[in-house]
Amino acid sequence: MYAFTYPANSARVIFGDGSLSRVAEEIERLGCSRVLVLSTPGHRAHAERVAGLLGPTASGIFDGAAMHVPIETAQAARAEARRLNSDGVVAIGGGSTTGLAKAIALELGLPIVAVPTTYAGSEATPIYGLTEGGVKRTGRDPRVLPKTILYDSSLTLELPPGLSIASAMNAIAHAVEGLYAADRNPITDLLAVEGIRAIASAIPRIATNLRDRDARSDCLYGAWFCGTVLGSVGMALHHKLCHAIGGAFGLPHAETHTCLLPHTLAYNASCAPSAMVSIARAIRRPAAASGLHDLAYESGAALALRDIGLREDQIDSAVDLAMASPYPNPRPLEREALQRLMVNAWAGERPSG
Ligand code: NAD
Repeated sequence: MYAFTYPANSARVIFGDGSLSRVAEEIERLGCSRVLVLSTPGHRAHAERVAGLLGPTASGIFDGAAMHVPIETAQAARAEARRLNSDGVVAIGGGSTTGLAKAIALELGLPIVAVPTTYAGSEATPIYGLTEGGVKRTGRDPRVLPKTILYDSSLTLELPPGLSIASAMNAIAHAVEGLYAADRNPITDLLAVEGIRAIASAIPRIATNLRDRDARSDCLYGAWFCGTVLGSVGMALHHKLCHAIGGAFGLPHAETHTCLLPHTLAYNASCAPSAMVSIARAIRRPAAASGLHDLAYESGAALALRDIGLREDQIDSAVDLAMASPYPNPRPLEREALQRLMVNAWAGERPSG
């Protein structure tokens, strides 16, 4: 008999073009009256818009969110939340801003309303990350799972072309690894296939017209499903490799996922055949790994690690990092094959299969 455990991570999800306008009502629902609004420095205007919608319920804005949640940033944001006696947090932005809200919630237990503006999916997971001394540590804690998510696709219309496609591929990566996760279950399988389908159908439309509202909506819908998969089951080689080399060599997050995904998938293909069939069907291509490469390539994404900042002489260290700590993966970790994987991803080759 098929046996499984399904750890449902429940959040209230409000989905729709313009749903940001409901932020005050959702904050009231949570019983909060002194809310700290978070953003990156470049998107302070988003935070000011939220503060305007909240009126006197907004106690302040902290616009210092940064990639990978540096501990100094987390400490500064926590201090600001304490100073303002905040009783809730609204995070408007990508995974970096959601990550900062999680760092606050982890220590202060404040409820989070997340308003994602990329497809990273952090809003749907109880996973947090903090970077100290150049090392990022991640963990799971139910306190950091946002209570409410407002998915408003109109906020994603300004995402630039490169990041739009890379962030969408980042979301697909969560679902891909969910399909061969050791602890997968029927719900995550359904979410993964539907998430990949929705995003793969939206990518070419976004590449043609960044302001295609239906395509943006489809991508955000898929990102919710893919993020939910990430939050529910364990990830494998692909995420470990992205995490390790992204942190060690300072590579951009979504772009690293995009370059590596076709190759990590090709590496695992022979040991996860039914996942490959599901992925190929969902993206409507003859094969999974080459199909995802082609989807990204045709949409103009950067596909070579050398083009996003990895030097050739760093490949050996990347392989060492991938081999360093064991984790569940469909195919055992083999140094020579991982070396080939990294060389191919560095050059942006099209994988076979
Ligand atoms: P990000 O939040 O750093 O955003 C990337 C860039 O896009 C930034 O420069 C940002 O200002 C800009 N941006 C965001 N929204 C925009 C918009 N609508 N229009 C124009 N520009 C916009 O990066 P990300 O890819 O969203 O998230 C990556 C981070 O999130 C990483 O640190 C990653 O580890 C983390 N993450 C965590 C989880 C989790 O479950 N904990 C899941 C996924 C990602």
